Amino acid sequence: MAPGLPGFTIVGLADTALQEARERVRGAIRNSGYEYPPRRITVNLAPADLRKSGASLDLAIALGILVGSEQVVANGRWAVLGELSLGGDLRPIPGLLPMVDALSRRRVSRVVVPLGGLAEAGLAVGIDVVAAATLAEAAAILRESRRGKSRIRPRRVELAADPSAEEEPVPSARADNDHSDAEPGPDLAEVRGQLEARRAMEIALAGGHCMVMIGPPGSGKTLLARTIPGLLPPLDDDEALVATVIASVSGTEPIGGLVRTRPFRAPHHTISHVAMVGGGPHMSPGEVTLANHGVLFLDELPEFDRSTLEALRQPLEDGQVAIARVGRAAVFPARFQLIAAMNPCPCGHAGEGDGRCRCGPGIVARYSGRISGPLRDRIDLWVHMPRVEPREYVAGAAPEGSALVGARIARARRRQIERGNQENCRLRGRTLKAACRLGAAEQAHAIRLAELEGWSARGIERLLRVARTAADLAGCEAVEGHHLDEAARFRSLSWQRAGLEAAG
Ligand SMILES: [Zn+2]
Repeated sequence: MAPGLPGFTIVGLADTALQEARERVRGAIRNSGYEYPPRRITVNLAPADLRKSGASLDLAIALGILVGSEQVVANGRWAVLGELSLGGDLRPIPGLLPMVDALSRRRVSRVVVPLGGLAEAGLAVGIDVVAAATLAEAAAILRESRRGKSRIRPRRVELAADPSAEEEPVPSARADNDHSDAEPGPDLAEVRGQLEARRAMEIALAGGHCMVMIGPPGSGKTLLARTIPGLLPPLDDDEALVATVIASVSGTEPIGGLVRTRPFRAPHHTISHVAMVGGGPHMSPGEVTLANHGVLFLDELPEFDRSTLEALRQPLEDGQVAIARVGRAAVFPARFQLIAAMNPCPCGHAGEGDGRCRCGPGIVARYSGRISGPLRDRIDLWVHMPRVEPREYVAGAAPEGSALVGARIARARRRQIERGNQENCRLRGRTLKAACRLGAAEQAHAIRLAELEGWSARGIERLLRVARTAADLAGCEAVEGHHLDEAARFRSLSWQRAGLEAAG
């Protein structure tokens, strides 16, 4: 603060929302019973070369001015975070949890956050979190802390006092704080017929395999996909913390506790590239990150923009996505499982054998060809879903429900984690071979299958990964011949493959 003509300047690469902090801070100070100092005010945001965005620094700027003009005296080091309204109310901000967590790692011992963000910020450990509803309350917290006694009772959450908590950031004692508000979707028992597809789905979810369902409209592809949320086990502690941070950064809904529900994201095929992979002016996470540790379901796969589909290859390979924008770069987690559905051709009836398809063979091939070879290489399971015959609706035996199948999936996942702390879909090379424990007869059988189908080494790896999951579902230590046969069945869509190969 300097003498001279009254003014308010923010320097240090502030974006528009941050520049507008001047108006919010001025209004908030006046409306909170303080004097707005008639001096030349310069707010310097360091480091100067790092772009700053959003409104999370409002409270810090306002309190800086109040301390600088000696209206508020603060004792010790405080971190303060929050957006101000013109009236002086403190509002929650996106990304509160990772910010408070970062402060804790930098040995900042206490932080003031907006009251609406208390539950979220309280998930960070090793830092005292105090909430304020207004600028005046935040100023009072700083002032009171100096006198060592409190006239107003700061709202705070009780934090685990365990010093080793930094290693284990999510004490299970907070489990009652978890929230799960996603609807589970229809039960698997509602899916009639489609035994092959049901089995493929069970294997895919148990091993984290990517899967594509191909069938005409009305064959139940979308219904089957909608049963996925009810089949997935909840996130474990580490996964839940990451999911909560992602939800915090995306800022779409208030966070009342740890996010425990495994994500199921189903963006429409008109989705933009940025919305899929992330980025944009605020470097927001995209669908691939929102689906981290969960399922990304793409209905009508060939209808997606081709470059958007190609952008899925890197995260499918690395489990993360790198985003670059002018002057900034970020890496977000993107360990998702791709499950997709598509019609066999533009009209939807190719392969039905009833003459209803009016698409020429070239058109069928070109339709499948919109999914590039490298992307197809990432798909472990292909399943054909024919139309369900009326008698299957009426006379078919009652199929297994989600509770039963979900329990098998959870058991198979546990076996994988216990064996090698890795999902089967991530197994490669020697690790994969070791995990399969093929006997001599099974090895010969795998080679025979591969020769029969003309598979490359990568094709055999896909076969083994899926067979490993089939064995895990059955509780078998070693992969047996019938597991290999079952895995091979989900690779051999002969009519479809002919189309795919014709398309190159
Ligand atoms: Zn057709």
